[in-house]
Amino acid sequence: MSRPRGRPHGDSRGRNDGGPRRSGLVLAVSVRHAKVRLDDGEILRCEYSRGLFDPASSFTRPVAAGDRVEVVADRGRTLVDRVLPRRGYLSRLRGRKEQVIVANVDQVVIVAAAAEPRFRPRLIDRLIVAAERARFAPVIVINKIDRVEDRTPLVEKVALYRGLGYAAFVASAVTGEGVDELREVLRGKISAAAGPSGVGKSSLLNAVQPGLVIRTAPISDRWGKGVHTTTGVTLHPLVVGGYYADTPGVRAFAIAGLPAADVAVLFREFQPFIDSCRFNSCTHDHEPECAVQIAVVNGKISFERYESYLKIIRGDDEPAEDGEVDDDDEADADDPDPDADADTPRDGTH
Ligand code: GDP
Ligand code: ZN
Repeated sequence: MSRPRGRPHGDSRGRNDGGPRRSGLVLAVSVRHAKVRLDDGEILRCEYSRGLFDPASSFTRPVAAGDRVEVVADRGRTLVDRVLPRRGYLSRLRGRKEQVIVANVDQVVIVAAAAEPRFRPRLIDRLIVAAERARFAPVIVINKIDRVEDRTPLVEKVALYRGLGYAAFVASAVTGEGVDELREVLRGKISAAAGPSGVGKSSLLNAVQPGLVIRTAPISDRWGKGVHTTTGVTLHPLVVGGYYADTPGVRAFAIAGLPAADVAVLFREFQPFIDSCRFNSCTHDHEPECAVQIAVVNGKISFERYESYLKIIRGDDEPAEDGEVDDDDEADADDPDPDADADTPRDGTH
């Protein structure tokens, strides 16, 4: 699936220009080190080149999990010397600066449960909108399909999302249904997961690859000597190729308060109609001669999706248990302001 790419934020280069450069992918970061998987497969613990630290930068740190970097050898150490431009990233505000949580995520696997907890289609739509806003491709998985007698309404939901061009399928971590499809979707990409707790995200990912998600994983990392506090996000290599990023993912509250026009462009099926509304400023809510509302009446836009749109623009919030697990709670040695704002999807264009 192709999707728009954010404008790169520019590229940061250190001062070290001697020695052979090798490129790789950052799997995790701590205050002083980055765990880098080089393109030849070697995994190295690297320090940061001094030149990467620019006091004028709008970022709290020069390097994040998911960054493509170049490393150089320097007096027995390996230094991350250059960060390549990011396609997009998730960040949170730390005071006046942005802390990048994870860069270059390709897609977000939005997991819903068919039952237990109850099926919540509005929340799926909110998470799709949040993913679209971050320019991550949404993938919709309706798990626990083994828990329902009549799967027809859920299969219809899947058909609706596929009709919109999204990857979507039903699954069961218990029976194994949909697990091969999920594995194929993850192949070769950097993926994150989203959805309320209890829907089966960990179970599904572990069905794809045993041991991928350790539910009680401590925040401190396990790859270096001693204890190094990471920022909580680690890219886990997938056997099929690609990575699973254990990030808080895309959270629906990232779209709270967006103006209607900004929300409407994230409902892809509204696009052919938006320009035909009578009023330029149409919010597609109550206005007369609204092409979107007419399309709903004519069955060209699903009523359920339209209802999700209305709920978002009216601020009728689903309870905020919509993200993934770990939130703001990790001990973060170099963060002066741990109580700063929540995660915001960024794509480098804002
Ligand atoms: P997470 O919080 O989204 O990671 O959810 P978990 O993977 O921890 O799953 C929550 C509970 O649902 C656990 O008790 C799982 O065993 C159970 N579960 C997960 N997937 C399925 C499924 O497909 N079918 C059924 N019946 N139970 C499941
Ligand atoms: Zn309208």
